[in-house]
Amino acid sequence: MNVLADLHTHTNFSADGKDHMADMCRAAISKGLSYICFTDHIDNNPSDNGYKYFNYAKYSETIERMREEFGDKIQVLKGIEFAEPHLYPREFEDVLKKDFDIVMVGIHYLGETYVGDKVISGNYSKQQIFREYYREVLKAVKFGGFDVLAHFDLPKRYFKGSYSEKEMTLEILQEMVNKGIALEINTSPLRRGFTECTPDSEILKQYIEAGGTKVTTGSDAHSCGDIAADFDYAHKLIKGFQGIPGIFKGRRFIPIDSL
Ligand SMILES: [Zn+2]
Ligand SMILES: [Zn+2]
Repeated sequence: MNVLADLHTHTNFSADGKDHMADMCRAAISKGLSYICFTDHIDNNPSDNGYKYFNYAKYSETIERMREEFGDKIQVLKGIEFAEPHLYPREFEDVLKKDFDIVMVGIHYLGETYVGDKVISGNYSKQQIFREYYREVLKAVKFGGFDVLAHFDLPKRYFKGSYSEKEMTLEILQEMVNKGIALEINTSPLRRGFTECTPDSEILKQYIEAGGTKVTTGSDAHSCGDIAADFDYAHKLIKGFQGIPGIFKGRRFIPIDSL
């Protein structure tokens, strides 16, 4: 696998993003990437720091400038990470009318609280948190309309060890396969002291066994230094299960082998 594509990155168009898009492009080029996709946040939960933060017009304009400036060295893809579309259908419909290469969905909130918040970890067991989280993911996947599901078992990034809820994860994965939604291998837990991606082998294997054929790689970098972090690990994982890694362009999946 010679093509490096990081399809999940954040710039300062996200409230929690640190760096300018131009610096992110320079860092990606220096790391040898062929593709970088910016997936800044649209979080509609009023409790979120990034509530109403995203500016589509400026984002589009900046991406166009990046394409002009760096287009001969790297392909810049225009994406979005939209949280809980099933709860914000009107806002999601607006996003779908716009021109994106990738519409990615991530579940971030359980009610009014962020999944990783200490209020949750202090009051609920790991099992309860994962169950609630998967319930929300299932609702989002049933709602559909998007290309990639981000960080499948996100609570893992905040609580030691994963918790497997086989029946629920299978139901989510089957729905993803039916709708053609890609599974993202998100490397962010590896730089927080964990030994697995979100998701890792167990869920990737189930996705492929359920008939899933689309896999993407994302660092979830919120600054230049984390772009494509631990991609060697992710590539080995995908290869080990004969997953088909690819990118999205104009919301169409293209396997890396046919680029
Ligand atoms: Zn996310
Ligand atoms: Zn993200």
